[in-house]
Amino acid sequence: INSFFQPVQQLVQLYTQYQQAKAAVGKIRGLLSTPPSVRESPTAVALPPVAGEIVFDDVSFGYLPSRPVLSHLSLRIAPGETVACVGPTGAGKSTLAKLVTRFYDPVDGSIRIDGHDLRDVTLSSLRTQIGVVPQEPFLFAGTLRDNLAFARPGASDDEVWAAVDAVGLRELVERAPDGLDTVLHERGQSVSSGERQLLALARAFLAEPRVVVLDEATSNLDLRSELRVEAALDALLEGRTAILVAHRLSTAMRADRIIVVDDHGIAETGSHDELVRSGGRYAAMFDQWAASAGRPPR
Ligand code: ADP
Repeated sequence: INSFFQPVQQLVQLYTQYQQAKAAVGKIRGLLSTPPSVRESPTAVALPPVAGEIVFDDVSFGYLPSRPVLSHLSLRIAPGETVACVGPTGAGKSTLAKLVTRFYDPVDGSIRIDGHDLRDVTLSSLRTQIGVVPQEPFLFAGTLRDNLAFARPGASDDEVWAAVDAVGLRELVERAPDGLDTVLHERGQSVSSGERQLLALARAFLAEPRVVVLDEATSNLDLRSELRVEAALDALLEGRTAILVAHRLSTAMRADRIIVVDDHGIAETGSHDELVRSGGRYAAMFDQWAASAGRPPR
């Protein structure tokens, strides 16, 4: 459900079927940087390097005028802060993430990055500073290097290895028959779900965005893989602004701040400890999760 970039992923698969991987990369990158639902203003300017402050100022949005998803939502995320969005399915968490990456524009209100309205800057300059890690990261038929350097073509081997090390995948790459030149098969079946997530984090690493927007994968990982993904995520988010759509409360718990998205807006906000103490919706979600995950209650 609500896979972040499912249509894009399908396109990617089509492309990999019909084109040489190298030729496809340029086209895929083009597709990702020009969402069909927004238009770049003729007066758009390149976004200067940002510290990473994100502000939602009285934002309302709905896919259909008759069905508002978010209504009058205001939120300030400080540079370097990690905010996790939790809440029921369909509440608008992924929508909020898509608004930050300007996959859609608000119907009302504005979203600003370091004071710049997203609508006033070029999409390509926005994409270089906001990195997206989709729920189902795609791998294409091409080398490991091409897959990793997707968002940063021309990265040096040292840079690629640094990203590989940052997510703890050196062993995997060294074990692969041709190292970084190992060709991944279409859809990356040769790669486990946990490794795929780690590769997606390495890819984001290499792009060095100031802001990371991540729609957490829902696939169940074994505990060891989960711990590896969590460690890689911590490394990636260090010093960056991050918005996480958290499907695991174990991820939400580690954020600087949690927002509970419900009833068209932010129903609760605070740190894990604050929200647990206040005994509201988050506390109820946490109790339920702790019970089902076999973890000790709060
Ligand atoms: P969450 O991430 O919290 O599960 P979403 O942001 O995916 O919620 O969805 C919020 C609401 O918007 C839901 O009612 C969903 O059905 C609707 N929605 C999501 N994407 C689209 C779309 N592309 N077109 C129309 N409605 C959508």
